[in-house]
Amino acid sequence: MTTESTSLFSSLTRRGFLKAASSVAAGALGDGLDLLAQAAPKFTAILVPTGAHAAMSSAAAMLAAKLGLKTDDVREYSGAASVHKGAIVLALKDTQGVPAPLASAIARDGYAVLAENGGLMICGARPRSLLFASGETHHWLDHTAGTWQRNPEFAMRFAAHHRDYNVAEQVAILGANSFTAQLHASVSLKNEIPEVYAKLNAETQQRLADDEADDMKRNAALVGEFHDADVEVFADLPYGNDFSRWSADLYNAFLAVYPSAKGVPEEHSRERAALCPSDPATWKLFEAYVGECARQSQADGVACTFWDQFGIFCHDERCQKNGLDQFKNELHAAISHYYAAVEPMGKKLHLRTWSSGCPHWLGTDYVHAPGYGNFSQSHYELWSRVINETPKEILIQTKVYHSDCEPDPRFSTLLGHSKPHPEIVEYQMVGQTTGRHYFPAATVAYTAWTMRKAHELVGADGGAQITPGGTMQANYDMYTDLLNSVDIFAWRELTWNLDASAAQIYGDWAAQMYPEQAAPHMAKAMLLSEEAANLCWSPLGHGSSTNSDFAVDIERRETLLRYTNRYYLPEYAKLLEPTKENIARIVAEKQKCLAGIDTMFVELGAAKPHLTEAQAAEIATRFDWFREFAICNTALDVSLWRFRYLRAQAAMLTTDPDQLKPLAEAFDTVTEHATKLFHYDPAQKFTCYDVPLGQLRTEPNLGSPLELMQELYAKSLAFMEASVGPDYLPKELIRAEVRMNVPTERGRGY
Ligand SMILES: [Zn+2]
Repeated sequence: MTTESTSLFSSLTRRGFLKAASSVAAGALGDGLDLLAQAAPKFTAILVPTGAHAAMSSAAAMLAAKLGLKTDDVREYSGAASVHKGAIVLALKDTQGVPAPLASAIARDGYAVLAENGGLMICGARPRSLLFASGETHHWLDHTAGTWQRNPEFAMRFAAHHRDYNVAEQVAILGANSFTAQLHASVSLKNEIPEVYAKLNAETQQRLADDEADDMKRNAALVGEFHDADVEVFADLPYGNDFSRWSADLYNAFLAVYPSAKGVPEEHSRERAALCPSDPATWKLFEAYVGECARQSQADGVACTFWDQFGIFCHDERCQKNGLDQFKNELHAAISHYYAAVEPMGKKLHLRTWSSGCPHWLGTDYVHAPGYGNFSQSHYELWSRVINETPKEILIQTKVYHSDCEPDPRFSTLLGHSKPHPEIVEYQMVGQTTGRHYFPAATVAYTAWTMRKAHELVGADGGAQITPGGTMQANYDMYTDLLNSVDIFAWRELTWNLDASAAQIYGDWAAQMYPEQAAPHMAKAMLLSEEAANLCWSPLGHGSSTNSDFAVDIERRETLLRYTNRYYLPEYAKLLEPTKENIARIVAEKQKCLAGIDTMFVELGAAKPHLTEAQAAEIATRFDWFREFAICNTALDVSLWRFRYLRAQAAMLTTDPDQLKPLAEAFDTVTEHATKLFHYDPAQKFTCYDVPLGQLRTEPNLGSPLELMQELYAKSLAFMEASVGPDYLPKELIRAEVRMNVPTERGRGY
């Protein structure tokens, strides 16, 4: 292990490789820790045109920081651009002096690089193109001759804004040109619907006025950052469309004036009916509120979502008569009115289509999950009126998953069917169903094939979107995660180069992230983690918890089996049949999962001599967390298939006592390993957290496997005893502490 590689590694991973690609690198470079800074400087100046756009200046500053240059090494030039030895010259394609072949190599908002005489010229389609270039120097910095072009595959690259990073950094890291952001509005309706405003108490009126002033100021500053980076920003509307949650004060004031607008919910529906879509006052309220959000945000558009908190599923007489008791008509009405609110202001509307698992009961509520097939309608049918009857400039974004669920879910059935609207494929890279990013949770191979398929369907004029993060995690930053930042890297690479293979992406990412000798092993370990996670959480292609945690009982676990919406496809339904063949299949699959994790440890062992102690410890801890979770989850899934087989046997008035031994072993395994979940030293610090593990606001945890294991064992035992009586089964396999008191299927036989 060389001093240089250790230092490089620690400096890069402390900030994360993605962050190192930005101006933040400056601090560590100042310490002389960076390998680039230690090598003989190849470039000594960054040249930008006089009066350059702020995005170009930011790009120059980032490049300077990355190369270990000082701020006054960034200099302006006037007149024609030309290549200079030892300099990186930034230009736009219409800048005087840019060679015509270089300018004509650029498509969309891409860029091209000319290398000659020991210098580089980076020519962008527009100012932000230089930010894109500054975020991926590994592609072009070493060029010494000729031209190289880099043009995006999708016209639109959308990303969710991360408030801890400045916008220019995010543009550089992600290669994105459009963002959604939280730009809060304090809506009082003072001017829009004064009769409703009048019903607010004086204190609320004053608070909203004060907050509006603050919000407007904050929003102006943030929107300014986006425009300085030469990108667009859409303000997130409040989540869902349940107005009682958007603003309880306004909702109550509104109903005091317009009581007939109150909705009537459907009995046993999970969806709510805060307002009735058949009442004209409802839309007056929505238009006023959405319009105010758009105005106060000062953004280029607004982005809306219509699930989880759906609030217009009204079943009063009016709606039953005119069809507004149906999702597809409600969505059409809502989107038409949102559009009417923002269009006169010259702002755009961005729409996320419904995303869910399968329709199911949740307690006494039915979760409709419209658009997910089987007993709900098709995704296209749900959105058909919006697609065909709303203005075509409305952007329609659809998750790549035909479920709200990773890992390895089905491909969306809606993508490619929303034309003439521009279509965007959404990637929710938050590790939600692959361990919430506590564990390695790479989705590179999945992203690669789905991105290619999505591109075929939505076309180059369409878009791709990313939400990087960690579901239910506190203190977490995916950009600095020394494992799961690979998913961000993959998204960025594929949105610019669909031909990049998964293996190549893993390799390129690891080369950025780790010392040379460690990189191939870490690439391999992460590649293996992708399959292991799929096998861990997607038994025979079926689903697990949306939040990766252990189900508490069999009823819940069987609901979750449906979550990838594959259960009604013949080839997957077959795998749910309660047969010994399927038990053998799941046993083999789970063995493969655990063997994959073992091989991850082998690769870590090979990388370890080249890693720092802290990094090796972090990776070992997180791999161990994954292994212990997978051991428990594996035992649970296999036992679930055994239980389902025994239940079916019982329905046929017989049983299979041979299942007792493996069930008892699974019971013992889960009992033992439940105590080993999420072990850590409170003083240990991970790259992805801003505090040591002992200080995390949310303790790492995915629940307990014990309750489900006990129920699976006890009920399976009861099925067996119902047929064989109390004496036949070997005593040493009876876990008496969880035995059910009376076999449920015994009946009276004499
Ligand atoms: Zn109604």
